[in-house]
Amino acid sequence: MTKLTALCVYCGSSGRVRESHLEAARKLGRLAGESGVDIVFGGGRVGLMGAVAEGALAAGGRVVAIIPHHLEALEVGLRNASEYLVVDSMHSRKQLMAERADAFCALPGGLGTLDETFEIITWRQLKLHDKPILLVNLDGYWDPLLRLIDHQIEEGYLRGPTDGLFQVVDSVEAVLDTAAKAPSPAIPDKIEQM
Ligand code: AMP
Repeated sequence: MTKLTALCVYCGSSGRVRESHLEAARKLGRLAGESGVDIVFGGGRVGLMGAVAEGALAAGGRVVAIIPHHLEALEVGLRNASEYLVVDSMHSRKQLMAERADAFCALPGGLGTLDETFEIITWRQLKLHDKPILLVNLDGYWDPLLRLIDHQIEEGYLRGPTDGLFQVVDSVEAVLDTAAKAPSPAIPDKIEQM
């Protein structure tokens, strides 16, 4: 990639998680802030989402918060984000997050994180975009998911290997470098909603 300017982070909104994951999220935000890479995220102040944003802002970085109107109160919208964009639906949120970023990463999270991550992976599979996607496998969090994907390949539901669709890294320290070294998208800036 020529230059990574904005990283979209998908991650959990729960705060009832390992402190080490919250710390890693803060660190990713800090590393992005120090490198001048904007964080694009779901706009909440809670859980890992809040931790990423906090780390980035503390390091003088920019965060772009994109939150649907109906979740503003529930996810405690981060109104002091560098950009605070309120959209009308979950679909618009995912679309705008995808447009505003030039790479994506998934930290540990729940169902919402899975939905967002799999949507961006399937959009790439369908050649609707070609931006790098990283699964950040902190403490092996995504191992069960990777086993499921192997199972899908074994059963013939998915053509392997999947390296062309997403990459797995073990730490937040590897995220920016791996995304920046990924080949430039063959389909620049083309993200269409299904
Ligand atoms: P979670 O991983 O469930 O904690 O959610 C992380 C983020 O995904 C939050 O910003 C949620 O608003 C969002 N989210 C939750 N459920 C969904 C869903 N069904 N579709 C898309 N995003 C969701």
